[in-house]
Amino acid sequence: MGLTNPQYEKIMRDYDRKQAENRALQEARIQEAYRKIPPLRETEEAAADLSYQRAKSLLAGDAETAGRLARQLADLREERKVLLESAGFPPDYLEMPSHCPLCQDTGFVEGKKCRCFQQAAVDLLFSQHPIHEKLKEENFGTFSLDYYDREPGENGESPYEHMKQVLRQSRLFVEEFEPGRENLLLMGSTGTGKTFLSNCIAEALMRRGNSVIYLSANQLFEALADHAYSREDPGQAENYGWILDSDLLIVDDLGTELNNSLVSSELFFCLNERAIRRKSTLISTNLTMNQIRAGYSERVVSRLMENYRLLRLYNSDIRLKKREERLGFGAAARKSKTNEGEE
Ligand SMILES: [Zn+2]
Repeated sequence: MGLTNPQYEKIMRDYDRKQAENRALQEARIQEAYRKIPPLRETEEAAADLSYQRAKSLLAGDAETAGRLARQLADLREERKVLLESAGFPPDYLEMPSHCPLCQDTGFVEGKKCRCFQQAAVDLLFSQHPIHEKLKEENFGTFSLDYYDREPGENGESPYEHMKQVLRQSRLFVEEFEPGRENLLLMGSTGTGKTFLSNCIAEALMRRGNSVIYLSANQLFEALADHAYSREDPGQAENYGWILDSDLLIVDDLGTELNNSLVSSELFFCLNERAIRRKSTLISTNLTMNQIRAGYSERVVSRLMENYRLLRLYNSDIRLKKREERLGFGAAARKSKTNEGEE
């Protein structure tokens, strides 16, 4: 199941659309900055003129003039930065914005498919909700500790205090991230924020230019099974290559898939192969350690125990709280709404 032509074209159309949006956004920002900082227009026009003069002198082989103009240009850029910052804008406000810092939303880097292309292909092939949309809402900037109870639990520590630690460790994981250096196992029951936290980590790493592939356990196991049955199919090999080669693979909700012996051995192959290739994996699960021992092969269990940093999450049901807040329900409404569930 490699990309079909229409799928490929859809991805390329999305890039075209993003580039058009980027240009429109840049233009709007320029106009906005001109309105708020009138002298800026003059600086920009002078810079455009200098660039033109510099190109001309380079073409004419006049390196001395070109050098002088380059220094003047650098001064103007500095002036632009100061003007922007004095009006409260970030210094790079007038640069062309892009979703992907590696390819500037062209999909290709030096003729090769960019990491974001691979992610787009995986999104499409596994028909998952494009992760980027979700990550706009779920990232470290929007993660709120307010949903965690401040009441100390049996061990004397409140879920709030505990989660603060987990959050700190997650940020550290991102800051020190180097593919293959560390793996994470997020354990906790439904509604404790595992998926949200995985998304925070995914968003931060993608922003730093790492490739992240996000799959539910079901999607991963489907891919593993397809791979096991059709190792010869080149399209399949390419997809599988992406899963093995992404800097971080996120497997959401391990334990919700239909498990069988084939899948368990393919899971080991996948985790092992990624370790050999020096890639990191993040697994989230509702299962307890005992349930993992009962459900997966010895080799999978020992790999998780030895090579994964365990982060436990706990709380009362966050999603329920969030939804009540969103809908304006009080605690009284909780009872009647509990059964609807929200994943
Ligand atoms: Zn890219």
